[in-house]
Amino acid sequence: MRKFALVVLSVAIIVACSLGDFLVPHSDVVSAAELSAAELSAAELSAAESDVDYDIIYSIPSYNYSKKTVKIKWEAVPEAVSYRLSYKKGDKWESLLEGKKLQKTVSISKYGKMLIYKIEAFDKDKVCIGKSDEIKIVLPAKVAKIYTTSVYDTDVLLNYEASPYATEYKIYIKTGKGKFKYYDRTNTRKMTLPVEPGKSYTFKVVPIYEIDEKVFVGAEKTTTFNNTSVVSLKHQKYSFSRMKKDMNRLKKKYNNYITIEKVGKSEEGRGLYDVILGDKNAKKSLLVVSAIHAREYVTTVTCMKQLEYYLEHYNEKLDGKRLSKVFKECNVHFVMMANPDGVTISQDKKPGWKANSRGVDLNKNFPYRFKVEGKKSGAGYSGKKSASESETQALIALTQKLKDKGPVAVVNYHAMGQIVFGDYKGQNTDMKNKMKSMYDIARYATGYFDAKSYGDGIGRGNYREYLMYVQNIPSITIEVGKTACPVSQKEYKQIFQDNKLVVLRIAKII
Ligand SMILES: [Zn+2]
Repeated sequence: MRKFALVVLSVAIIVACSLGDFLVPHSDVVSAAELSAAELSAAELSAAESDVDYDIIYSIPSYNYSKKTVKIKWEAVPEAVSYRLSYKKGDKWESLLEGKKLQKTVSISKYGKMLIYKIEAFDKDKVCIGKSDEIKIVLPAKVAKIYTTSVYDTDVLLNYEASPYATEYKIYIKTGKGKFKYYDRTNTRKMTLPVEPGKSYTFKVVPIYEIDEKVFVGAEKTTTFNNTSVVSLKHQKYSFSRMKKDMNRLKKKYNNYITIEKVGKSEEGRGLYDVILGDKNAKKSLLVVSAIHAREYVTTVTCMKQLEYYLEHYNEKLDGKRLSKVFKECNVHFVMMANPDGVTISQDKKPGWKANSRGVDLNKNFPYRFKVEGKKSGAGYSGKKSASESETQALIALTQKLKDKGPVAVVNYHAMGQIVFGDYKGQNTDMKNKMKSMYDIARYATGYFDAKSYGDGIGRGNYREYLMYVQNIPSITIEVGKTACPVSQKEYKQIFQDNKLVVLRIAKII
């Protein structure tokens, strides 16, 4: 790769020489070096300029990028016996070379720093008889850093640091080994480019310099950007902290399409979060609850992936309808981990743990035909009173809040068995119809079994039954996975595939 491209020089029009020359007649010699630029006003300077005729000294600097040196060479002026090369330091000129030589190699300490030189020629009487214009020299620096930010998975925003003296930046996209395609140019330090989900890109930023009407190309800087997904199905233990991290990354990536609200705390103080997909103020809501049972944390990663899948396609049609439209009418509230303490116990110590940290099975703790059952343990204990647990309380409060706003339905994710539960024994015809639709959608999309072979006992303290019979909210339960809980990571991909359209399709019919 070419490390440094071209460079900058400028040659040109004549300006005043060393200023003492204008103040004294040529016969009355005063060394030019004795007087400084500061002693002459601008008016005197321009007046002097038009009066005196000098030879123009042309100079072409040549650069050695790796050594950071520049060789300044100039043409001889007839009758000149000595030359002076000076550089500008602040407002003053400092001499760098005086003598007969017609060249000088100077070193440049820093890339991106502009240095200004001039050359003067003197005759035998030390009178200035020739001069160059200011010679500007820059070793163009590449842009120091490029930042990439995903914009809704469909675009990427490139921000780059300035390359000193660059007037424009050209952006290229890599198309193959060593090949780049020009995309666009801009005089700002940012550019938005379209990208496809799941793909990787390499971009190149090339600063362009325009000095004294000459265009130079600066050194290039490349960066790669992976437009890959946030939620990974690779990890068996999809933990509370991983979930939180992913939630925040999704929020950052799809800022306008999701809202994260804390709706409570677990008994051990972990946050209970409601991730709202779509219009926060939509009249209708679908609530999706996962991992109310600790060892069933496969449901958390399934729903996180589902959420990301919808976000990735937010501005497209999926399953026949534009998602932005679907979720404007009906938003989806995901409670990804309803029992984070229990999940942590299951992942860290006791894999078979179902309850919360106080040994209460949350799905027996709701105020529906509540009865004290079992003992404090990993599974089966109802708690002393209904809604005794902070996790239960948070779900009740959220349910009530959504119900107060408009129509709402609930999908409960559990594991395992590949079964959908959607039976309703009440008298409400609307409920019956809604339940039937939800149940059919879930069964058709997943191909899971029906629940007919299961008994129709009373689900005491059960959330789904609380929803249906106390709150009149339609609700189904989907049990994912074939293997015993905790479900093996080998199934995660298939479970996501089976379920990826379920929430979307149900949101459409609420
Ligand atoms: Zn369960």
